[in-house]
Amino acid sequence: MDFTAYRYVVVGCGFFGAVIAERIANDLREPVLVLEKRDHIGGNCYSLDHPGTGIHYHRYGTHIFHTSNPYVWEYIQKFTEFNGYYHQVLTTYRDKVYQLPINLETINSFYDRNLKPYEVEAFLADEVSRSGGNFDDNFEDKAISLLGRPLYEAFIKGYTRKQWGRDPRSIPSHILSRLPFRTDYNESYFFDPWQGVPLKGYTDIFNQLLASELITIQLGTDFLDVWGELPESSMIIYTGPIDRLFGFQHGQLEWRSLDFNERIESVPDYQGTSVMNYAEESVPYTRIHEPRHLHPERSYPEDKTLVVEEYSRDDDGSDPFYPVGGHHNQVLLDTYLSELKKHPNLIAGGRLGDYRYYDMDQTIARALEVYRRIRNHHPGVSD
Ligand code: UDP
Repeated sequence: MDFTAYRYVVVGCGFFGAVIAERIANDLREPVLVLEKRDHIGGNCYSLDHPGTGIHYHRYGTHIFHTSNPYVWEYIQKFTEFNGYYHQVLTTYRDKVYQLPINLETINSFYDRNLKPYEVEAFLADEVSRSGGNFDDNFEDKAISLLGRPLYEAFIKGYTRKQWGRDPRSIPSHILSRLPFRTDYNESYFFDPWQGVPLKGYTDIFNQLLASELITIQLGTDFLDVWGELPESSMIIYTGPIDRLFGFQHGQLEWRSLDFNERIESVPDYQGTSVMNYAEESVPYTRIHEPRHLHPERSYPEDKTLVVEEYSRDDDGSDPFYPVGGHHNQVLLDTYLSELKKHPNLIAGGRLGDYRYYDMDQTIARALEVYRRIRNHHPGVSD
């Protein structure tokens, strides 16, 4: 391939890469080459019709778009419409189903009480004081200091050990802020004002983002195999794992990955909701997805449904989903970021490139921000 035709090369085709490619093509009006290792666009947001059932599903786990950022909401709506889906999550603990995030229904059902919203704080404070004091800054202590030990042990401890494969005391406390708890009966998983599932699926958003004739996509291409062939002047926007970019020369960042087990069940509705978590550590999967519930506006078969079990495991950087984070990973990340600074034409970003547990909207916000920097450095452009 002749790489000289492209001043801009985007590596990876998830939201970070696709948004930057879209802006370079449609705003800067410059040709851009997108290199993607996998055989499809969309990164882990990739969605498709399941061949056995026709049910539209997300190959890498259920993705619900949600944001409170008006700029991101305005931007993404240029590329898709959303359906009215509103995300609720349930969790199964000892064969009983509870609401998540932990809300007044969960608490009353778990303790067999009928607490009123104004009584919850005092009730939980009592539970916390009975759980021991001296809380440290780690995931487990943060959870117990908010909810008390019984709720933590039922709904959080087992799930978190499965999800992260680590002692919750060694996990950063900020991860808990992804799982809010409520003192009322609100069942919404997210606080954000805007949420939904793209009417035509996620892959269609990527087709729209990358529709410009100025964008060339090359699938099945590992950037590291062709890096040496690119002209020195190429501006590279790399969205893969930052440690892999530098050949793991300073060591490996810790990542978690997911495996999915898809099967067809001969019932119209298997679990009555799109995502059912399994709180106990003895259940090997973390959750079961049933994608038919994501698109209530579509007609699906009545005699079968698709269900997908999700399993979490450690990853060596070849198939990463989640950055594990924590102090020692941050130190290593800083070393790689210093390495990156030696390459003025190389930008890294996205969940893998930044090693940050971004949601889709945060990834888009970051991509738009990085694009502004790219634009300001483009010859002849001034704001
Ligand atoms: N979590 C939990 N129990 C649950 C769901 C989540 O303890 O039933 C904790 C767990 O540590 C998880 C974190 O909350 O990693 C964030 O959950 P979220 O649903 O945001 O994870 P994601 O959808 O990004 O995998």
